Amino acid sequence: DDDKDSQLKSPIVVVMGHVDTGKTKILDRIRHTSVQAREAGGITQQIGATYLTKEYIAKATARMKEQTSKPFETKLPGLLFIDTPGHESFANLRARGSSMCDIAVLVVDLMHGLEKQTLESLKMLTDRSTPFIVALNKVILIDRCLDWVADEGAPFQLTFQRQKQHTKQDFENRLSGIRTEFAEKGWNTELYFRNKNVKTDISMVPTSAITGEGIPDLLDLLIQLNEKYMRRQLRFKEKFVCTVLEVKNTIGHGTTLDVILSNGTLRKDDTIIVCGMPPQGTIITNIRALLLPSEASEMRERAEYKLVEEVHASAGVRISANGLEHAVPGAHMQIVPRNLKNSKDHAKRREEIEKLSDEVQQDYTNVCLFILLLFLMFNLKKNVMIHRCSRIYPVNNVECMSKHQPLGALEALITFLQDLKPSIPICGINIGDVHKQDVIKAGVMLDHQPEFAVILAFNVKVDPEARELARQNGVQIFTAEIIYHLEDAFNKYMKEIYD
Ligand code: GDP
Ligand code: MG
Repeated sequence: DDDKDSQLKSPIVVVMGHVDTGKTKILDRIRHTSVQAREAGGITQQIGATYLTKEYIAKATARMKEQTSKPFETKLPGLLFIDTPGHESFANLRARGSSMCDIAVLVVDLMHGLEKQTLESLKMLTDRSTPFIVALNKVILIDRCLDWVADEGAPFQLTFQRQKQHTKQDFENRLSGIRTEFAEKGWNTELYFRNKNVKTDISMVPTSAITGEGIPDLLDLLIQLNEKYMRRQLRFKEKFVCTVLEVKNTIGHGTTLDVILSNGTLRKDDTIIVCGMPPQGTIITNIRALLLPSEASEMRERAEYKLVEEVHASAGVRISANGLEHAVPGAHMQIVPRNLKNSKDHAKRREEIEKLSDEVQQDYTNVCLFILLLFLMFNLKKNVMIHRCSRIYPVNNVECMSKHQPLGALEALITFLQDLKPSIPICGINIGDVHKQDVIKAGVMLDHQPEFAVILAFNVKVDPEARELARQNGVQIFTAEIIYHLEDAFNKYMKEIYD
């Protein structure tokens, strides 16, 4: 049995919740980093992954000894955390994060209670039957006021028992308020150390990302729950499951993939099969280097990477290889089975590669269907608008472009255009750099309403030919690397037009 136990994989923990509840800050506190301060506007735009080894967790939970007599012990190799954006435009990214995880931490602001994306997250977790715990963050008493005496990094019970009576009472009142809110949604909740029915009642951990109080409890509870209830699910399997999160340039490595390996093993000399954008299609290439972020750093950060020969699930890892330029973020990735790699049986090898290629390329179809669906939605809307108000509002012509960003960005952009008053119908959506054809397409509006021949290009390049054509014809191209900047620029433009 010991042998099997050593084969447990690290649970993937997704951190979810409403915007500004402190998800990123909690992870920062755990890692001793400050991603939150560096994020554009403090908002998480992509999914980030952070790996903590069990040794790291042992250190981070060392102070639990002052609170319980149980020694820290685990057969889990570590925990892989995924941070998700809470901004309402990113529903799709949150869904992707939650679909990869074994367990979730739902962060709730004790002062604000259940907010819009808290409820949305709850629904996602229920739909997928994902186990979760609640972090009651920003416990106002802990780090803000009412005579709370902070003890940096202390376990919650320890620091709580030292507080004054009225401070404790105030906390209990707020806690009971939140529990009522959960109960109204059909959830039983209880502070984790009072929870007698772990399987039915959701455990809550009061935390402060500012003072670090309650953070040891949070990590300890995650380890315990995974050890106790999820062993079966966490048994390491060789079946390979890997999702491409991002396609980006890494200095010295060219185009690389950030992937989450949720099952199986990746080796340096593996041949990978990656979903690629047409016309290039499926990418079959050899891994040149596997870059593992150094412990407790965040994949998105320009962190130190170390070169490794192989990684086991669960892991967030960056892959360097030739020919990744057209990889589709959000799609699954496969590897050519190692026993076939140098096989003499070419027919069998070809057959297997074809099968796996079809499998990953299917994701492009899914991705496209998703875009098509949004597009249809908007065209229907456009018809309605033309019917009802084309005389009042000009029908706009906006192209959205986004490639090296997860689809969530596209969705965010579309939601933004839809929410504008009047809402802006979209004539075309595309993934990838802006080319001449896109300018020609957007240029259709030039004869009708030239001010609305607009391309919104999010985090993609505009090729020089396209830029020159746009300049000659008067097609406006807005570009930005941060979606909110793109929205601001477009808002400003709209305001100038309507005023
Ligand atoms: P996210 O959108 O959920 O990732 O939230 P952030 O981590 O970006 O935090 C949002 C804001 O809340 C930031 O200004 C943080 O400094 C602040 N914040 C986060 N956690 C705490 C906490 O425990 N206590 C207090 N007082 N502020 C916090
Ligand atoms: Mg965040």
